[in-house]
Amino acid sequence: MNRSSFFRTTLMMLILSGLGLPSFGQGTPTVRRALPVPTATPAPKATPSPKRAAPKAAPKTTPKPKARPHATPPAASPKKMTPPAAHTLPTGPRITYTAVHVDGPYVALTFDDGPHKTNTPRLLDMLKERKIPVTFFVLGELVKTYPEIARRIVAEGHEIGSHTWAHPNLAKMGDAQVRSQLDRTQAAVKEAAGVDITVFRPPYGSLTDRQRHWIHNDYGYKVILWDVDPLDWRRPGADVVASRILDHTRPGSIILVHDIHPGSVDAMPKVLDTLLARGYHFVTVSQLIAMEKFAPAPSPSPSPGGAPAPTVAPPAPAPVATPASAPSPGEPASPAPSPAASPIL
Ligand SMILES: [Zn+2]
Repeated sequence: MNRSSFFRTTLMMLILSGLGLPSFGQGTPTVRRALPVPTATPAPKATPSPKRAAPKAAPKTTPKPKARPHATPPAASPKKMTPPAAHTLPTGPRITYTAVHVDGPYVALTFDDGPHKTNTPRLLDMLKERKIPVTFFVLGELVKTYPEIARRIVAEGHEIGSHTWAHPNLAKMGDAQVRSQLDRTQAAVKEAAGVDITVFRPPYGSLTDRQRHWIHNDYGYKVILWDVDPLDWRRPGADVVASRILDHTRPGSIILVHDIHPGSVDAMPKVLDTLLARGYHFVTVSQLIAMEKFAPAPSPSPSPGGAPAPTVAPPAPAPVATPASAPSPGEPASPAPSPAASPIL
């Protein structure tokens, strides 16, 4: 047994040493080598470190791509956010109109910023004489001042829409202030003329996208902009106002005018008679919207003989670019925040 155990142990040691397992004799050299290595570490480590750096760089590069995806998604996600939002909105009920796709020669004349003590009644006479219905976007404070004119507007078949109480830039206002502008106007119109408001035109065409949606949700208002703007608030004279309107009106147009300016009202007989002669029919904004066809916009040719091809005013599909300048009683029109009224909804 002693022998065999001796042999076994020697055999074991031989086998173990053969396997390279640590033994006293062999361990020293490794240690010795290990010692110089540390001294040489700067260099060797430098080599390994690059090697490590490489592997590290590799993992780092992999994270980097990971980081890029992260970076891109956020970058892309906002982009994706907007398109979906923009796409989703039009699919629902339409909220905003600059013009309406119709299959006939229908147009809507709209008058802002009144009622005016003398100009509005004068305009009403012109319209009555021709049996033409239009839409008035009134200021609540003026309705309160001239309730009888508001009453007459409705009594003679016209539509009344809200243009706020005092013509502020709503895009710069808080929700509570906006509500006040809308509530007071709605109440004044209801009291004066007994009608509920369903259409709304923000002063300057200025309204944020968020405002547009909550106003539509809470009040049920459709936001009415325009595609024909003669810039009559600059008072260029009746002839210029008339020719600008006549040059750009097409079927489905929503025409913006201000009945607080005498020159604008002076332009109306020519505008009305010429458009009638061209075969146009006047309707209120709500009537025009009710006629909406979802087919491509008809060319002006079908109806009015000689309806000029609009050079400036873009067709309905064009985003609300035109309503950049909405006249105000006093101040020059400030460019409407494009995001506010960008998509046609
Ligand atoms: Zn206005």
